[in-house]
Amino acid sequence: MGGTIAGRAERADDNVGYRAGQVPVEDLAAGLPALAGLHLRFEQVAQINSKDMRLADLQRLLKRVQDCLVDPEVQGVLITHGTDTIEETAYLLQTLLAPTKPVVLTCAMRPATAVSPDGPQNLCDAVAVARCPGAKGVVVVCAGRVHSATDVAKVHPYRTDPFASGDAGAVAQVEEGQVRVFRPWPGESAHTARLVTFLAAKDLPRVAWVDSHSGAQAWEVDVLLANGNAAGVRGIVVAGTGNASLHNDLEESLKRAETAGVRVVLGTRSGLPMVPYATQPFPQLDGLSPAKARWALTLDLLDG
Ligand code: ASP
Repeated sequence: MGGTIAGRAERADDNVGYRAGQVPVEDLAAGLPALAGLHLRFEQVAQINSKDMRLADLQRLLKRVQDCLVDPEVQGVLITHGTDTIEETAYLLQTLLAPTKPVVLTCAMRPATAVSPDGPQNLCDAVAVARCPGAKGVVVVCAGRVHSATDVAKVHPYRTDPFASGDAGAVAQVEEGQVRVFRPWPGESAHTARLVTFLAAKDLPRVAWVDSHSGAQAWEVDVLLANGNAAGVRGIVVAGTGNASLHNDLEESLKRAETAGVRVVLGTRSGLPMVPYATQPFPQLDGLSPAKARWALTLDLLDG
């Protein structure tokens, strides 16, 4: 899919001023010892910076992964992807496909042209995971850690180990090509009907994401719904402070949105699941982070 792992910089000592999605996927894998002798099929589904992901890119990826998974010759699928939205792509793949084979996303924080790129080792580790007996479901492999699609979140803008899995922790760890498994692989319960609808969608229900914060004001929601909701907003994910607490002014505007037919769901700014409380004004969705709750709500609304 592109990303920093396929990025190119002008200078080898520049780890941040690069162009993502430049190096073809075959070239990323060339010469890696962990891949020698394996029967690999390469496909450049997209070549983008994942911050610019569009519905059509996700649809193309989901379709290709779905087709690969039904091929009896395929043992696993590896996806190179940008780190910025990898957790959202992973969540969608897991929710819509829930594969019984491993679907391993990997990435890098340094471009392929770096003095010491992290992509090659991540790719080798991802292959080790894809070949691991019993591995299944969608995971993200980076810096030796194997994160489940549901729990993974990017929590650092620069470190080569930028992901965390919250309180759940990583699913496994790769050490010298060996996979040490800590807990069960992501489970199976795909929304196959939703997959069909998602792949056929020309556009998605509009779901906005707002934060509560010190000094939050009603206009932040009111502008979204201006002119009788001319923008056609169908849902709002609100990331609350602390345990999903909301500024009173923001909460009131969200209540007005709800009365106007907009679905409002609650998450936390930390991205971790909230502890439900009696006066909670809106529901949370499966303890998901705001980024993933936004997709979950989008898929719900797509169902009608
Ligand atoms: N902006 C890049 C991307 O998400 C960052 C990365 O890959 O690390 O594609």
